[in-house]
Amino acid sequence: MQQKPSEPALITPTAEIAVATHGGRAKCLQRLVRLDVPVPRTVALSFREVKGIAQGEMPDMAKLLEPFGETPLVCVRPSSEDPDWGGPSAILNIGLNDRSFVELRDSIGAEAATRLYLRFVQAYSINVARLDPDMFDDIDLAGQEGLSAALRAYEEETDEPFPQDPAVQLAAVLRSMARAWEGTTARLLRQAKGAPADAGLGLVVQEMALGLGQGECGSGVIQLVSSATGKPAITGRYRSQSQGREALSSEAGSVFLARDPRGPSLEDQAPEAFAQLIEYTRMMRVRLREEMQTEFTVENGKVHVLDGVRIRRSSRAAVQIAVALAQEGIIPKEEALLRVEPRALNEMLHRQVDPDAPRDVVGRGIAASPGAACGRIVFSAEAAQAAAARDEPCVLVRRETTPEDIRGMHAAAAVLTERGGITSHAAVIGRGLGLPCVVGASDMKFSVSKQRLTAPDGRVFKAGDIITVDGTSGQILAGDPPLLEAIQDEAFQSLMTWADEVRDIGIRANADTPADAQTARNFNAQGIGLCRTEHMFFDVDRLTVMREMIFADGEADRRAALDRLLPMQRGDFIELFRIMQGQPVCIRLFDPPLHEFLPSDSAGIRELAEALDLPRSDVERRVEALSEYNPMLGMRGVRLGVTVPEIYEMQARAIFEATVAASREGAPVVPEIMIPLVSARREVELVKTRIDAIAAAVRNERGSDFTYRLGVMVETPRAALRAGEIAPFTAFLSFGTNDLTQMTYGLSRDDAGRFMSDYVKKGVFPEDPFHMLDIDGVGELLQIGATRGRAARKDLVLSVCGEHGGNPESIAFCRRAGFDYVSCSPFRVPVARLAAAQLAV
Ligand code: PEP
Ligand code: MG
Repeated sequence: MQQKPSEPALITPTAEIAVATHGGRAKCLQRLVRLDVPVPRTVALSFREVKGIAQGEMPDMAKLLEPFGETPLVCVRPSSEDPDWGGPSAILNIGLNDRSFVELRDSIGAEAATRLYLRFVQAYSINVARLDPDMFDDIDLAGQEGLSAALRAYEEETDEPFPQDPAVQLAAVLRSMARAWEGTTARLLRQAKGAPADAGLGLVVQEMALGLGQGECGSGVIQLVSSATGKPAITGRYRSQSQGREALSSEAGSVFLARDPRGPSLEDQAPEAFAQLIEYTRMMRVRLREEMQTEFTVENGKVHVLDGVRIRRSSRAAVQIAVALAQEGIIPKEEALLRVEPRALNEMLHRQVDPDAPRDVVGRGIAASPGAACGRIVFSAEAAQAAAARDEPCVLVRRETTPEDIRGMHAAAAVLTERGGITSHAAVIGRGLGLPCVVGASDMKFSVSKQRLTAPDGRVFKAGDIITVDGTSGQILAGDPPLLEAIQDEAFQSLMTWADEVRDIGIRANADTPADAQTARNFNAQGIGLCRTEHMFFDVDRLTVMREMIFADGEADRRAALDRLLPMQRGDFIELFRIMQGQPVCIRLFDPPLHEFLPSDSAGIRELAEALDLPRSDVERRVEALSEYNPMLGMRGVRLGVTVPEIYEMQARAIFEATVAASREGAPVVPEIMIPLVSARREVELVKTRIDAIAAAVRNERGSDFTYRLGVMVETPRAALRAGEIAPFTAFLSFGTNDLTQMTYGLSRDDAGRFMSDYVKKGVFPEDPFHMLDIDGVGELLQIGATRGRAARKDLVLSVCGEHGGNPESIAFCRRAGFDYVSCSPFRVPVARLAAAQLAV
């Protein structure tokens, strides 16, 4: 541990200055001094010294001012460990008094000297003496008379003349800045930005570079790349006859940095200074290994560098900058990977509301699927399809979505629901489609039948009104603010390639449709980890056959309906295999309760009665008979497979016939078949026997050999606990953490959204467990399942295919537990690839 210096340290190449003791600014200034950048003389005060000052232990002021000569003129700036934690505002021109004012007037002219002294008197009065800022409102501050009036006003307010001794001025400035850091508001603000409770403040006392006076004088900031794109572009601001952050505070009086046909530039006015600034900023980039913004002052044509800060950047720019630094050999590729926050990629992969645009927020919910889209409100899937037919973007607003809404979701630009959580139907489908989605917006009133949506502030939105769904923030906005387009540029591709080179856990995608599969491939997923086959039965042509199958009067009728579904399923799988070109495709057998396919309202029942040529009362009776008290815990998943085996047999046949067809055309396919909602070994045995028999039959009929891999989805706690006896029958276990979380907590994934935010706010759960894997509870079940499964079968492949699969924290857990891969929504694949790479670096 470095010894903390006990005295203010003049920043020299060898002084003991560290970020942890003196803050980031002091350390950066030392680095600049080491690089021979012309930094004005600076003294750094450590966290400990500043804390002492706040408690009344002042350093020796004469000694502190010694490096600044007979007539010191200095500024004090904050230097916290992380610049984002903020700090008190800088105070400039300390040392100005009646005597130095006269000297300054002779050197830089009366007008400039008066402005500086006046500025100091004002800053000192407000920030240090804590006088009311209004005190200067009634004073005409123009010229020297204004200055005298300001000094008089100070005296009247404080009953003391304006302090003339630079040591007294500086001591007061240091005390007020040190105390401001200790204030409750400042503390809460920085803690909200992640600062620890005991975060320290350093201060730097720096010789003033005036920025006002004879010749070209001014101040500004310069950087070599755009903060929005990260691409080379000299940007910043410069203002003649200014200091501090004046150049940034308004456009007025600013000139362009580089030559520009629209007006004068620093390059025109002081070409040498301009060239030097570029040179320094380039050198800082290379030597500090970071894209920097240079804060500078020009004094009679001479450049002073006051500070260098890491440039602010959008996600797109963060990727561009990291990749460019690595490609130029300034940082290693591994470091470039670590410099990009995986979740920030979401911002690049989806359209976003322009961060600079005003936001008229009318409601909030759970940010269920990232990206933003604007459109006219529609309240039904049919209206969404009609809007799509008119080429009119729409937002589908529902209390919650059901499988019947899928077509509407395909047609909509975004989805908004009143109910549901992060794994609700709308959320899962939205993420799969890359469709912006906000769910559980229960602070808005949804009157779907009256076609009205009411915001908490009472504003009413009707069908046809335009709103924007921001699925990244969870906000609903009125109107259509400007959006920024999604981007996947060369830098993004390079970063992803590097990520794949280092990561050591596989990343697959959950994909149900050919479009999903194509997205998965585009994002370089290593196969499909979960194809939810039930989503294939909701197209109009299939839904009716599906319903016939459900209504069939016995096995023979049911098989007849299934025979009609078979070619459709086969076609689906052939297409998926084709798109995935030999990569693994894991197909989950039918999972939902059958009643989900039946109509819920009377119009639907009438339609179905017509289609099936049955009396309406018959249909009603059958629908009633199929309804369950707890459908998610009822007749679904493998329970259907055991009791109505014809469905799984049809699906297995479709998979194998598609395997033969696709393997003839292209790369050989080894399909993976997954049984959902298993809780007992015997379930697996029964299903496996039938599937093996179908495989043998298809091999015979087609005269073609193939293999397949059978796996079990671990979605019930019992399956995890009994993994040891299940494993011998399966090639893989895939943990469906959505249902497993639901069943471990006894918490409905479709209803939890209603109270989840209260639960998180009150600290009952640290996070929504459907969003962030509950490592302590659900995680323990995963660990038990993995250990017991692998003990019974060494080559057992382990994976997670619940929504948690795309979360960086869950990926870390799975990697530690020895899982082979995670599978997540296609659009989260890049986030998962980068997160996995960061774990391996
Ligand atoms: C799961 O339960 O985790 C899962 C992936 O299946 P589904 O979300 O379709 O229930
Ligand atoms: Mg499930």
